[in-house]
Parts: sequence; structure tokens; C-alpha cells
Amino acid sequence: MPINLDDPKKFRTLVGQAHQVAMNMLRPISRKYDLAEHEYPKELDMLAAMIDGLAESGASEGAGAAGVRRDEPTDRSGGQVTNGTNLASVMSIQEMCWGDVGLLLSMPRQGLGNSAIASVADDEQLARFDGVWAGMAITEPGTGSDSANIKTTAVLDGDEYVLNGEKIFVTSGDRADAIVVWATLDRGLGRAAIKSFVVPKGTPGMRVERLEHKLGIRASDTATIIFDNCRVPKDNLLGSAEVDPKQGFAGAMATFDNTRPLVASMAVGCATAALDLTRELLASAGVEVDYDRPAHIQSAAAAKLLQLESDLEGARLLMLQAAWMADNRKPNSLEASMAKAKAGRVGSDVTLSCVELCGAVGYSESELLEKWARDSKILDIFEGTQQIQQLIVARRVLGLSSAELK
Ligand SMILES: Cc1cc2nc3c(=O)[nH]c(=O)nc-3n(C[C@H](O)[C@H](O)[C@H](O)COP(=O)(O)OP(=O)(O)OC[C@H]3O[C@@H](n4cnc5c(N)ncnc54)[C@H](O)[C@@H]3O)c2cc1C
Repeated sequence: MPINLDDPKKFRTLVGQAHQVAMNMLRPISRKYDLAEHEYPKELDMLAAMIDGLAESGASEGAGAAGVRRDEPTDRSGGQVTNGTNLASVMSIQEMCWGDVGLLLSMPRQGLGNSAIASVADDEQLARFDGVWAGMAITEPGTGSDSANIKTTAVLDGDEYVLNGEKIFVTSGDRADAIVVWATLDRGLGRAAIKSFVVPKGTPGMRVERLEHKLGIRASDTATIIFDNCRVPKDNLLGSAEVDPKQGFAGAMATFDNTRPLVASMAVGCATAALDLTRELLASAGVEVDYDRPAHIQSAAAAKLLQLESDLEGARLLMLQAAWMADNRKPNSLEASMAKAKAGRVGSDVTLSCVELCGAVGYSESELLEKWARDSKILDIFEGTQQIQQLIVARRVLGLSSAELK
């Protein structure tokens, strides 16, 4: 069967709309909120209302991080598979990040905590938390990549869990309506005891301690949050409270299989923006890329651009594959990590190489190239670093457990 690499027809309107929003609403305020770090991008409220309207009308097909619950595949004819909300999400997020990654991360109701809710919540919780904008808090002062080691505790007391601990680097930690917090029910029971809890903003005992100053994605707030005897209803534990050592970390990790392709799409979108502008700037300097001639007989700049384009295409295809597998309920941990590893690495390389190709223009603030090089680096760090993705891929390929390959 031939592979059709065109965008699925049913998503073309969505992708086109996302591109228009990126070009006309995000790009014009991109530099403003890069400079005004910690200022709330109020323009996004109107945009979020528009996206809500599209979602209600059923026209959006999952225009953001919120739309990543695994669809039932619709077996249309002869075992045919579906293109669903995961694919729609990566394609629209890619377009939005062509506009601005930091602003995309600041979009109300599109937080990574929303993906956790979509992945792990039961039907009652899905309905109860519908429309809530949720950040996600895993990282702690002593715990980053080794997320099985978290120390924040959740102790059942009557009908409530009592949370205690410190979370750092929480994206949208100040602005979101709620935070999905990872905490352990019992440190002695290891990773199986780690559960996620929805903590609404303003819950007594939860406080934002400070906001970070950052290299890039400055439009996005990144908070340190303290939980000091913070009580939440026991129904706010997402999914099952049962500690099943056989299940291990699988429940919590399922979130990442959905979110890693999304982060890959952010990297692809940002790098595409850099390549598009670099192509234009090179053309205006007389460097035209000829796609019908081998790279090695063209100018060094044209050959480099061709190499960057092909690297990015590899990342884009892995991203599409990982999202498509999620839509079709195929296990995609390997592909999600491959997509994130490739896109994170290529995203940083492409954006920085574009700065290099454009020289002083690339480095100065007259264009957004230097900003995109700063913005893209985080996409190779959060949701699992480059090294951690490679570790996961190696474990899957070699059939080794996390205890066997560290
Ligand atoms: C802007 C920003 C936003 C963020 N948003 C969130 C958020 O919303 N929620 C959240 O919970 N966290 C968030 N984070 C935290 C982020 O997920 C962590 O920084 C990341 O997981 C890495 O953890 P660490 O910083 O503790 O680094 P470490 O885990 O200490 O790693 C340091 C270095 O060692 C490498 N390393 C670690 N272990 C291994 C190994 N076994 N093999 C090889 N190399 C290894 C890493 O790849 C890295 O290069 C955010 C971070 C930033 C900067």
C-alpha cells in the first residue's frame, strides 16, 4: 500500500486555522512577552475562548494538549485505522509553535496536566475536570529524571488526602486553574505507590513560592510550589488508588506516551519557523536552494539548509507515527520516546544552525531566530531529557528493564 504523506484531508481546515492564529495572533506578540517575562499574555484569553467555541462546535478535533485521550479506533472497512485527536493535536500544536512555543504553553486549558487527566482519569473525573486548565508537577529539588524517586507524600485522612512536599519548575504553575501533583502513597512501596492528584488553585496549604527567570519560553510561567498539609478530596486522586506492584509505574507513565509526541511537535513547529525564515533570508541574500540538484554541488549554505530540512522531516515523521499509534491504541512508548529524542535534538540543532547561517542577523533581536534557538532548548529537556529518551529507547529495543539498564 503506498504511503500518503499529505496531511489527512479532515485536518486541513484545523491545521490551516492554527497556522493563521500563529501568524496573526502569536507572532505579533512573540517578542513582547519574551521581553516582558512573567507578564500575563492577556491576548490569549480571547484565543482560548475561540478554541473553546471550536471545541464545542466539534470543529477543533483536539486543537491542543487537552485533546489527547486515546480514541477507540473506528474500524471503518476491512480493519482500516483512524486519524484521531492525537494526530490532530500534534499537527495543530506544530502550527501554533511555528508562531510561539512559550505562548502555546501559556494557552488556558491546554496544559500538560490536561494530558495527564485525559490519560489517567476515570469518566466521572473527566467530566468533573472538563474545562479546567491544569499544569503538571512532578519535578522536585532532589528528583528530576529519576521521577520514581519523588518524595512528596499523600496520606489518606478520612475523605481527604493530605499532601506535603515541594515541586519545582511547574509550567503554568502560577496561572493554571489546577495542578496535577505526583505524590507517593507509601515510599516503602516504590514506584507503584506514586499517584497523581488534582489540586485546584487556591486550595489552602498550596502556595506559589517563586517564578523562574529563564533562557527561553519566557512567555510561559514556571513556578516553585509548596504543599504544606494541603488537603484535597480523595476523589481527586486520578484513576485507581490501588497500589499494584505488578502495574508498577505504568499508569503514571502512560501520560508520557501521550505528551512526548506533543513536545516533539512543539520542537518541529519551532524549528520549521526558523527554517522558513532562514530560507527567506538566504534567498534575499542571493542563496537559492535547488531541490532538483544534489546538495554537494550547491553552495555550502544551501547544502546545510537541505541537511537541516531532511533532519527535521525525519523528526516530523516520527512525531506523526507516535501520535497515530496513540489514536489507534497501539503501544507507543518506544515511538513516543524516539520522536521526542529526535525532535528535541534536531529542534535545537536546526534553530541554532539557522542563527549561524544568518550570521549577525540571526544573532540580533531584529529577527526572532535568536529567540527560537533559546526557546527550542527546553523541548530537549522537559518531559524527559534527550539522554532519558535514549535510555528508554535502548531498554525497549534490548528488552531490558529499568533495573537492568540505568
Ligand atoms: C522551563 C522548564 C519547564 C519545566 N516544566 C515542568 C513541568 O511542568 N512539570 C515538571 O514536573 N517538571 C518540569 N520541568 C522539569 C524538567 O522536567 C526537568 O528539568 C527534567 O526532567 C530534568 O530533570 P533535572 O533538571 O532534575 O535534571 P537531572 O535529572 O538531574 O539530569 C541532569 C543531566 O543528567 C542527565 N541524566 C540524568 N539521568 C541520566 C541517566 N540515567 N543516564 C544518562 N544521563 C542522565 C540528564 O539527561 C541531564 O542532562 C521543567 C523544567 C524547565 C527548565
